[in-house]
Amino acid sequence: MVRKLTAAAAALATLTVSCAPPTQTPMKVRALVLSSNGEYAPTEVELKTITDIVSMQGTVAKLQGGAFIRLDSQDPEANAAQTDEAYLRAVLKDEGRPVTASYNTDTSGVLWPADFHTWNLVTTYYNLERAWDYFTTIAEVKQADLPQTTAYYFPEFVLADRSDDPVVDNAIFLSPVKAFLVLPFKELQKAPLALNASILTHEYAHLVFNRRVYEGRGVPDPIRYWGAVGGSTPGLNILKSLDEGLADFHAYVASCQTSYGCNPRVLATSYEGTLMENRDLSKNWCMSRELYTQLYGGNFNTTFSGLEYQVGTLLASALYKASTSAADRQVLARAVVAAYSDTDPLKPGLAQLARATLDNQEYFKLGAAARAIVRHIPRGNVTLKQAVCTNFATHLQIPVSEMTGTDEDSCPESTTTTSACPSIYTIAP
Ligand SMILES: [Zn+2]
Repeated sequence: MVRKLTAAAAALATLTVSCAPPTQTPMKVRALVLSSNGEYAPTEVELKTITDIVSMQGTVAKLQGGAFIRLDSQDPEANAAQTDEAYLRAVLKDEGRPVTASYNTDTSGVLWPADFHTWNLVTTYYNLERAWDYFTTIAEVKQADLPQTTAYYFPEFVLADRSDDPVVDNAIFLSPVKAFLVLPFKELQKAPLALNASILTHEYAHLVFNRRVYEGRGVPDPIRYWGAVGGSTPGLNILKSLDEGLADFHAYVASCQTSYGCNPRVLATSYEGTLMENRDLSKNWCMSRELYTQLYGGNFNTTFSGLEYQVGTLLASALYKASTSAADRQVLARAVVAAYSDTDPLKPGLAQLARATLDNQEYFKLGAAARAIVRHIPRGNVTLKQAVCTNFATHLQIPVSEMTGTDEDSCPESTTTTSACPSIYTIAP
């Protein structure tokens, strides 16, 4: 999710057809792709995983039109739901129906979308396929862990606690329905979010985080338990910050595979100004004492609301700065994904750390999460590991003692901070 919906939700078309084109894999088709000069252009691409080019279904995704999803804290059916499946049935009021895309074929056999929605559908599928390809190859997630995911195209999505008007201008991974939502656009003047590869990779990263850290649950245990308290929710604040920040880091690493090239500004081409600048990983971001106090003392649904993006950017930016070569980016992307879940007691993953602290979220520390990532950087990558540790200590102001240990995989005892950020622990003279 790019912008905040409601606190509660955050914690959690029928088209015309011409002649039926042939279906074979890979399929050559034109999509709207960001070119090296920063403009979206109709570009010939191959869809490698599509099995039905008209209803837009394949190994990676199934696009579905006409759905109706309603989240409402007063919905008796949703509140009575005891299982993920019951909750899904309660909020998915109408699952919609397959889309129907329409094409013209050029002389070389390449399919050209014949209408606006088909351009949008094809590009959506292409971007999801690229994200899936990034995660299954560069980040080494098993294909079996990332089966076909539904993407509800232009659904009616209502957050009833906020408004009866459907949400527009967003692209979301919504865990309760285990699906992506590509929402209609209304006021967005720049590139629609589904066309934006970085934004869809960010959303796809939420799916991967959900599958590995949250075991694919619609309403994950840490969110259910940690979010139910009225006071401070440090564990939830940290976990949601990790989810957002690591999604931006993956979007950045994946962008290096595109013809546009490495893009540290995840929201670029869809948003501009402060909104975009605030998520620019190449800037020098520093943890402030106020943000640190909120991270550990704030409540996710009230005072911390929205700050997970700030902490997330600090995290993503620290990883960005530590990995300057393609080889290092790949090692780090794999380490991050490996750290999502690891049952090895010598280097527990985020899923295991969260489970172990389910009754005491104050023990789920940013340093422990950072250490989980560091421990999954192979020992041979000494310089990269050192750079990550230094950046975590400097930009996130994580006490070095939280990231070191007697094991060889944690940060070295010699880790120090640099002058890139002022210390939040010493009072300025
Ligand atoms: Zn997000």
